[in-house]
Amino acid sequence: MLEEKLKIDKISKGTVIDHIDAGYALTILSLTGIDESKNLMTIGVNVSSKKYQTKDIIKIENVFLNETQMQQISILSPNATISLIENYKVIEKKKVELPKTIKKLILCINETCISNSEKEPISTEFMVLEGKPLKIQCLYCERIYKLEEIVFTSKEKTEKKIIQRIQL
Ligand SMILES: [Zn+2]
Repeated sequence: MLEEKLKIDKISKGTVIDHIDAGYALTILSLTGIDESKNLMTIGVNVSSKKYQTKDIIKIENVFLNETQMQQISILSPNATISLIENYKVIEKKKVELPKTIKKLILCINETCISNSEKEPISTEFMVLEGKPLKIQCLYCERIYKLEEIVFTSKEKTEKKIIQRIQL
C-alpha cells in the first residue's frame, strides 16, 4: 500500500480512476477524450494491486467525468472505481456501472444492420448479455460482440482530428 502511494502522487482536486483492468488505461484515455486535456495527469500501468494482480490507474487534476465517459469506462473495465478529490481528500467514491443497454457509444459493424442504413441510419443500441468478460448484442440485427470486437463511436474526436489536420 505504502509503496503504491509513493509511486503515484496525490492530486489536490480532480478524479482518480482506479482498479482499471491492467492494460486498459491508455484505451480509456483515448476513448473518453481525457487524453486531449491540458491538465496534469498521472498514469500508472500494471501497478501491483492487492485485489487484482495488476491494475492501471489514472489521476487527473481539475477534471470530473460525465455520464458518457463513465459508461465508456464501465464497458472497458467494469471493476473500475471513480474517486472525486477535493483538497487532497476523497469526497466521493463510486464504482462504474455497466448499463443494461448501451446506446450510441458502440458501432455495429454488420453492414446490413439497420443502424448502418444509409437512408435512415438510427442510433445503435446494444443489450449487455454478460459483464465480465463483456458480451453485448445488437438490438437490431442480434449480432453478438465480445469486448475485443467492439468498435466505439468517437465521432467528435475524429472530426476534431481531421480539422486539425486540414489546418496544418
Ligand atoms: Zn446490428
